[in-house]
Amino acid sequence: MKGLLFDIRHYAVHDGPGIRTTVFLKGCPLACSWCHNPESQLPATESMIINRRVGEVLHETSETVGYYSTPLEVVHEIEKSRLFFDESGGGGTFSGGEPMMQPEFMDEVLTLCKDRELHTAVDTCGYVSVETLRTIAAHTDLFLFDLKVMDLAKHIEYTGVSNHLILNNLELLVAMKKKIWLRMPVIPGVNDTPEEVAAFTELLSGLYPSVDRLFLLPYHAAAKSKYKRLGLETDKYTFSQPDTESLNTLKNTYGKIGFKVRIGG
Ligand code: SF4
Repeated sequence: MKGLLFDIRHYAVHDGPGIRTTVFLKGCPLACSWCHNPESQLPATESMIINRRVGEVLHETSETVGYYSTPLEVVHEIEKSRLFFDESGGGGTFSGGEPMMQPEFMDEVLTLCKDRELHTAVDTCGYVSVETLRTIAAHTDLFLFDLKVMDLAKHIEYTGVSNHLILNNLELLVAMKKKIWLRMPVIPGVNDTPEEVAAFTELLSGLYPSVDRLFLLPYHAAAKSKYKRLGLETDKYTFSQPDTESLNTLKNTYGKIGFKVRIGG
C-alpha cells in the first residue's frame, strides 16, 4: 500500500506541540478560495510550472507535484527527528490536503507511529465519513481541526461543501474526549463579520472547556503565484490581509470565552 504525498517537512514548530515532522498528503474534498496549498487539492500527481533563473535568464520548466510512499518509508522519515521529539515533546503531524482522504494509508502509518511511541497529530478540515474519523481517532493523539465559516451558504460558496458534516464531526471528537486544537483562517469580510463572530462565539462557548485552544491564521496572498503555476483560476475572489487591530479584537473576543487564542500557527 502507498500514500500520495507532496511534501515532508522536518523541524516544524506550528503543527502541534514541540518540534515536529509534518507529512503533507495530497487530495482534499474542499476547495477553499483562500487555500495556501492549492497543490494539495487534487488527489493525483500534477504538473506545476517552475521558474528558474540561470544568470540573467529566467527558464520555465515544470515539475511533478506528488509522489507515492509506503507507510514504513514515511515513518522512517519521521523517526529521523526522534531526538528532537524527545526533547521538545514533538512528533509526527499529518496535514495536506486532507490526510483522511487516504484512510487505509493513514490507519497504517498512524498504527506504525503508535507502535514506535511517536506522538501523532492530524490536521483536518473535518469533512470525512464518521467511520473514517472513528478509525483514525483511535491512533491520533491530537487533532488540529480547521473551522472556516459558520454560515452554511457562505461555507458552500467559499469551500465548495456544506459545513454540517464538519460541525458534526467536531462534536463527535469532543464526545470521544479527543484532544483538539482549533485552527481558523481569518479572511476579512468572510469570517470576521459580526454575524460570523457571533456564530463562532456560540459554537466555541459550547465547546469550552473540552476544547480551549484556538489558532487564528491570518490570510496572506503568498500562494497566488502557485495557482497560476498550476493553471488554476485566481481571480474569482480577492481577499485582503487582516490588520493587527482586527486580529487582536478577534483574539480578545474568543479569549473572553476562556480560549487560549494565538495569532499564527
Ligand atoms: S481544507 Fe485546507 S487544504 Fe483543503 S482546500 Fe481548504 S485550505 Fe486547502
